[in-house]
Amino acid sequence: MKLLVSACLLGVPCRYDGKAKTHDGALSLFGRHTLIPFCPEIYGGLPTPRPASERQGERVVAKTGNDVTEQFRRGAEEALRLCRLYGCEAALLKERSPSCGHGAIHNGLFDGGLVEGDGVTAALLLQNGIAVFGESEWERLP
Ligand code: SF4
Repeated sequence: MKLLVSACLLGVPCRYDGKAKTHDGALSLFGRHTLIPFCPEIYGGLPTPRPASERQGERVVAKTGNDVTEQFRRGAEEALRLCRLYGCEAALLKERSPSCGHGAIHNGLFDGGLVEGDGVTAALLLQNGIAVFGESEWERLP
C-alpha cells in the first residue's frame, strides 16, 4: 500500500519547534508499504522552526496572533495532490496536530487542552476518501 506519512514521524525535524517526533511503529512500516513523507506546514510555505499554531474554528492562528489559515490550506491541498499522484489509499498522520491530527486536536487556546476535530490536512484527505490513521493506530494498517 502507498501511504502518506507525517514526515516528523519518520524522523524529519520539521515540527514547529524544529524537532522530529520519530515513531518506531511508523518506521517499522517501511518494509511492508511505500511510505511518502510529507509535512503540510512546510509545503504550505511556513518556516521551521515556526510559532505553534492551533485551529480556531475554520481559521488557524499562530501563537503570535498571525492568521496562517491560507498556509495550512495550501499544505492540505498539496497533501491531497500528492496522494492522488501516488495513488495513496491511506495516510498515517501525527495525532493532535492542527494539520495532521485526526479525532482530537488542540483547542485553539494554547493551553494544552484538546477538542474533538481534525487538522486541516486530515480533514481534506478524509473528505476525499483517503483513510487517516494516527500514529497510535499504526498496528491497524495491514
Ligand atoms: Fe508533523 Fe504534520 Fe506538524 Fe508537519 S504539520 S510537523 S508532518 S505534524
